[in-house]
Amino acid sequence: MIPNALVELDRRHLVHPVTAYRTHEERGATVLKSASGVHLFDEAGNRYLDGFAGLWCVNAGYGQQALVNAATHQMAQLPYATGYFHFSNEPAIRLAAELADRAPGDLNHVYFTLGGSDAVDSAVRFTHYYFNAIGQGARRNFISLEYGYHGSSTTGSGLTALPVFHAGFNVPLPNQHKIPSHYAYRNPVGTDPAAIIAASVQALRDKVAELGADTVAAFICEPVQGSGGVLVPPTGWLPAMQAACRDLGILFIVDEVITGFGRIGPLFGCEVEGLEPDMITAAKGLTSGYVPMGAVFLSDRIYQAMADGAGAAMVGHGFTYSAHPVSAAVGLAALKLYEDGLLANGQASGAHLMARLVEFADHPLVGDVRGISMLAALEVVANKDTKALFPADLGIGARMAAAGNRQGVIFRAFPNGTIGLAPSLNYSLSDVDDLVARLRATLDEVLDAPDVRAAM
Ligand code: PMP
Repeated sequence: MIPNALVELDRRHLVHPVTAYRTHEERGATVLKSASGVHLFDEAGNRYLDGFAGLWCVNAGYGQQALVNAATHQMAQLPYATGYFHFSNEPAIRLAAELADRAPGDLNHVYFTLGGSDAVDSAVRFTHYYFNAIGQGARRNFISLEYGYHGSSTTGSGLTALPVFHAGFNVPLPNQHKIPSHYAYRNPVGTDPAAIIAASVQALRDKVAELGADTVAAFICEPVQGSGGVLVPPTGWLPAMQAACRDLGILFIVDEVITGFGRIGPLFGCEVEGLEPDMITAAKGLTSGYVPMGAVFLSDRIYQAMADGAGAAMVGHGFTYSAHPVSAAVGLAALKLYEDGLLANGQASGAHLMARLVEFADHPLVGDVRGISMLAALEVVANKDTKALFPADLGIGARMAAAGNRQGVIFRAFPNGTIGLAPSLNYSLSDVDDLVARLRATLDEVLDAPDVRAAM
C-alpha cells in the first residue's frame, strides 16, 4: 500500500491516543514502518534517531532477537493461559519469582497487568481491598502530586494532575486529592532542596489532617515525574515522603512505570535512594515495549492481609490477560538482556548524556536542564530571566517536534516546547553525541524563526 493511502485510512479510521483529533486529520500521520538498534524508519524512507525509546518503553532498543525468539517460541508452545481457576504458566511464575527476588524490601508478590494504567488501577483496587480487610474501610482518599501522571484509566487519570487528562472526562474522582510538586525550577519555596523537602512533607501532613487522619489510604508518586515534564526530586525527597507516609499510617505507592528497568540507572528506580514502598507499579521496560505488560508489586503485609481478609472467597480482581505467557516470556528475556549488560551500558551512556546536556544551559531557548541517567528534559522558555513560556498560539511544541523530525531525531515535545528524552539503554556514547548534535540543530532551527525571536 502506498504511504498516502495509509495516511488517508489512518485519518478516517484510527483513533489516536492523547492526540488533537482535528489537528491530526489536517496534519496526517507519520507512519512508522521498521526499526533497528536506536533508529526508526517511516513509510517514506526517512530515518530518525529515537531519543524517546518509543514512549519511554523500548529500553532494550530495537531488533533484539532474544525478545523476538522468546515471543515466537512461547506463542508456538502456549500462546495463552488464564490465571483464573488456579491455572498458571511457567513464564509468568518464573518472571514473578525473578522480579520478587530483585524488588526492594518485602515486595514479594507480583500481579501482572497489560500496561501501566491498569497497574495503577489495580494498585488502587488492592489498596481499597487491603484497608477493608483490616477493618479500616474508611480509608478511601488518595493523595498524589501536581504534575503527576498515573495513566489513562478513570482512576489513574484522576490521580494524574495534568489538565488535558481531566478536561471533558469528569475526573478527578471525589476521593482524589493533590499536593504541590517538588518541581525545583518553578517552586514557590525556591530551589533549596531542604526547603522543597520540608514543604512537601508539610503539604502531605496538612492534606491528611484536612481530609481526616483516618480517611486517607495512600500517597502515590513517581520517582521522577515523567509526563509532567521530567521533574527530578531533590535527593532525600523520596525517603522523606516515605517516612512521612509511615508516620501517618498511609500506604506509600511508587509508580515506576517509566523509572523501572534501567531508565534512571538500576533495575528499579527505588534503588537509587533505597526506598521500600508498600506497592510498586511498573510496565514499559518490563517487556521493553515489544508486547504489552505491566505489574503491581505487593508487600508481604498487604498480600497476607488481603488473603486473610478474603478467607475462602475470591478476590474479585482480574483481567483475561493477567499473567499472559507471551508477555511474561518476553519479560524474562528482557530481564536477562538488562542484567547481561544493558543496565551497565545505560548507566555509562546516561552519565555521558547528563554531562553533554549541561552544554545546553547557555542556549537562548533553554531555561532548565534536568535529568537522571537515561531520563532527561530541556525546558524551553521565551525568557530565561522571567522563565516565561512562549504564548500558546505559537505552537512551540509542535514546531519543536517538526524541527526535530527534519533533523532526523524523535523526542517528546511537550506542548510548552520542552524536550523530553528517554533514549534506549543500548545507546553507545557516540549515539549520545549524535542525539546531542541533532538536538542542538533542532533548537537552533526553532530559534531562527522570526516569530519565535519576536516572542522572546
Ligand atoms: N504511570 C506512569 C508514571 C506513566 O508514565 C504511564 C505511561 N506513560 C502510566 C502510568 C500509564 O501506563 P500505560 O500508558 O502503559 O497505560
